[in-house]
Amino acid sequence: MANESGQQQDIDRAGFLLTLRQRGIGDQAVLRAMEQVPRAAFVPTGSLTGAYADQALPIDCGQSISQPYVVAYMTERLALKPHHRVLEVGTGSGYQAAILSKLVREVVGIERYRTLADQARERLKAGGYNNVEVIHADGMDGWPDRAPYDRILVTAAADEAPAALIEQLADDGVMIMPRGPHNGPQHIVKLAKRQTPESVTLDEERLIAVRFVPLLAGKAREL
Ligand code: SAH
Repeated sequence: MANESGQQQDIDRAGFLLTLRQRGIGDQAVLRAMEQVPRAAFVPTGSLTGAYADQALPIDCGQSISQPYVVAYMTERLALKPHHRVLEVGTGSGYQAAILSKLVREVVGIERYRTLADQARERLKAGGYNNVEVIHADGMDGWPDRAPYDRILVTAAADEAPAALIEQLADDGVMIMPRGPHNGPQHIVKLAKRQTPESVTLDEERLIAVRFVPLLAGKAREL
């Protein structure tokens, strides 16, 4: 990398963290993870100049890498502990999975596009994120082999939380997802699961307004 662009990236990355702090991200471990993971490694080469701007960017297969503030916000709301095992549905570029991997024991990521799953797996391997596994599958079914999960993060929007995901969430587990119609108002919601021998309850808390690509059933037919 040319020295000049390297210096520019350092400046951009300093501003990137400042923006997150100014917008209210206060969890030191989350901020450290956001500082450690180079977003530039997860965006297409054509978008490199925008890698540290607080904006979503297009990735392959018509999908997008989420806005850094939203990544940090959802991560903070998950209240992660180092021993947690986390399921991420909608791994896309792998960026959010990389952030999670810095904060917990194990991350299982599911992506419905083979191209994206393969790219994310390679990038994560190259970056040394060894506690992440990326699976090409329909995340609406979760990944029962590894359930239960302490935390579930869905990064594509749906009207309702998929039943399989609620099922695979541990007792006292937390699920964060964008809820709402494809082209209408969406909000991040936090779902907390409480289980007794007789019943399962889900407490729901509505958080910030967002805009996500839709959660779609089935593996993508396209690559
Ligand atoms: N977390 C990603 C954001 C990707 S956008 C990142 O950090 O880059 C949401 C992703 O969800 C898209 O890649 C889309 O293909 C994927 N997706 C949508 N429905 C899905 C499903 N049912 N199973 C798995 N992935 C899904």
